[in-house]
Amino acid sequence: MAGLLARYTHWLHTQWPAGTVEKLPLSGENGVTNLPGVRVVGDLTGIPLLKFSSFTGARAVRAILREPEFQKPADGRGKLESELLDLAIIGGGVAGVSAAIEAKKAGLRFVVLEATALFSTVVNFPKEKPIYTYPTEMKLEGGLQFTAGVKEALLEEMEAQRHQAGIEPTPGRVERIEATGGESVLHLAEGTPLRARRVIVAIGRSGNFRKLAVPGEELAKVYNRLFDPKEFASKNALVVGGGDSALETAIALTSAGAHVTLSYRRKEFSRAKPENVAKIETLAQNGDAEVEVERPSSERVNPAMTRGLQRGQGGSLQLALGTEVTRIEPAQILLRSETEAALPNDVVFTMLGREAPLDFFRRSGLRIAGEGTPSGWLALGAFLAFCIFVYFWKSGGFAETWLDPWPGNMSVIVSSLGSWFEAQVADRSTLLGTLAVSLRSRSFYYTLAYSVAIVAFGIGRMRRRKTPYVTLQTTVLIAVQMIPLFLLPEVILPYLGYNGAFDHGIGRTIGDNLFESYIPEAQYLAREWPDWGHPRAYWRAYGFVLAWPLMVYNVFTDAPILWWLLISFFQTFVIIPLLIWRWGKGAYCGWICSCGALAETMGDQQRHKMPHG
Ligand SMILES: Cc1cc2nc3c(=O)[nH]c(=O)nc-3n(C[C@H](O)[C@H](O)[C@H](O)COP(=O)(O)OP(=O)(O)OC[C@H]3O[C@@H](n4cnc5c(N)ncnc54)[C@H](O)[C@@H]3O)c2cc1C
Repeated sequence: MAGLLARYTHWLHTQWPAGTVEKLPLSGENGVTNLPGVRVVGDLTGIPLLKFSSFTGARAVRAILREPEFQKPADGRGKLESELLDLAIIGGGVAGVSAAIEAKKAGLRFVVLEATALFSTVVNFPKEKPIYTYPTEMKLEGGLQFTAGVKEALLEEMEAQRHQAGIEPTPGRVERIEATGGESVLHLAEGTPLRARRVIVAIGRSGNFRKLAVPGEELAKVYNRLFDPKEFASKNALVVGGGDSALETAIALTSAGAHVTLSYRRKEFSRAKPENVAKIETLAQNGDAEVEVERPSSERVNPAMTRGLQRGQGGSLQLALGTEVTRIEPAQILLRSETEAALPNDVVFTMLGREAPLDFFRRSGLRIAGEGTPSGWLALGAFLAFCIFVYFWKSGGFAETWLDPWPGNMSVIVSSLGSWFEAQVADRSTLLGTLAVSLRSRSFYYTLAYSVAIVAFGIGRMRRRKTPYVTLQTTVLIAVQMIPLFLLPEVILPYLGYNGAFDHGIGRTIGDNLFESYIPEAQYLAREWPDWGHPRAYWRAYGFVLAWPLMVYNVFTDAPILWWLLISFFQTFVIIPLLIWRWGKGAYCGWICSCGALAETMGDQQRHKMPHG
């Protein structure tokens, strides 16, 4: 039993490129942050796509140009003060270069500071990786443009645009920003600090990778991430480093059939996890040993290589402890210990560690989303108190009478609007008459608030993420929430009922078997409606979409109704399993269910906080 449960939870939580969660800096419109004069762009703003990176980079510069303060000469010192830059762009990736193109067009005095290599994230894409330029309908007005279909062509076209715009990056790793009123000081790892009136942070999510600083490191065969170990089967690979990312890379490559040399400058592995060290030692003795990286601890190693997916034959692993790489050449590498030796080589992975962008943000005082502040905790407390109130107001409890006589007096309120309204309310077969009864029920407001949240946050989501998938999924979720999960039970069915749809024949059969009557038959046929609400249990219609056990009341009841038992059984044990079998785990939760709808829409901006994001 425990084994079965373990397999089930494994199925639920793995087989998914989850990785670890990377937090992002808190930013507002056009990338503004809590530091005056400092904006963030690109992947740091939440959507890790080329087009959005280019768009946010260019847009941030345009926003700076519109700032009234920026248009004035700086502090009376005049724009011409030689050391003060208009703009410093940190990071020479897609967003940074796009910002630079706009800054150049505007004639600003700016620098682009790049810690490793221009476009380093793209340089490290797997060889010939196809490039998807979503959202397809999004047209970029400035910054870098993309037409290429594979990595190499993408790099070429971005490089050509950079060159044409006349943008030359300045090598330098920014350690920290010190924002002081009208200007910011950028502290570099080496060299004198730079001063700029505005700063754009475009450092992406990868952080900056430590470099070997040896000749040949710029060759196209040198990577700092491993995406697809299979690609290197039977190749001569060098992995440099002694931490988990290096060891996991070496394990994955060897298991995939590569001939790996693992070079580490120390004589033993002291930083890596003991289980990774044990696997390395096993593979060093037998390259075909059944060793896998179950869950890579390094986000630089693709989790998709777990569970034997990438296994190959004939791999080998040679440990080169106490060695240093001195040169990388197209067909060989030079390793030095006591003497220098040349090894044949096709590919190099420098897995020397990196500095996560988060450390940079913390040192600079940039607020990070999800890291609590006193006002944030207060707001959370207030929101929880509000939720507790709403629950006990609706379901009966200490807050039940707090808003009395509302909403029980809604018919009176609507009637008081005039004689036409009064006549409509008096006749429940009118739409307003039906609605006036629903408006008296507390659950109506509960459902209304839920539906409004999904519509409002859903529209926000579609405007933020302009991809065909998101638009279709959000539209479906909104439609399901609004029609069968709100209008049907709260308005449509009661309206049909008051208009006689469930009085006779097949309508009556449906009505009696799905929405039982609360009042005696004679009273029902005489159309003497109860004061306290609708005469039938229309609320059961939520069960058309919300399967058991989401909707427990159609099943767990002292007076079970056969039709609902059958519907619930088929939903839970036939229809949903079939949906999942055909379209995957998200088919019901991500496209139909109201809980999933709230998660997809209201939770959209929080999804980066969870690994499955
Ligand atoms: C494997 C992979 C495949 C992808 N495929 C696609 C795709 O097909 N289509 C698509 O649209 N998107 C794709 N993306 C996403 C796309 O690459 C990113 O959205 C884009 O590169 C982000 O640009 P950026 O400028 O924000 O950051 P990056 O491109 O990461 O650039 C950040 C730069 O800042 C530098 N830097 C970091 N710290 C410092 C510092 N302290 N000082 C100075 N410089 C620093 C880094 O060296 C780096 O060059 C993919 C991403 C990955 C990882």
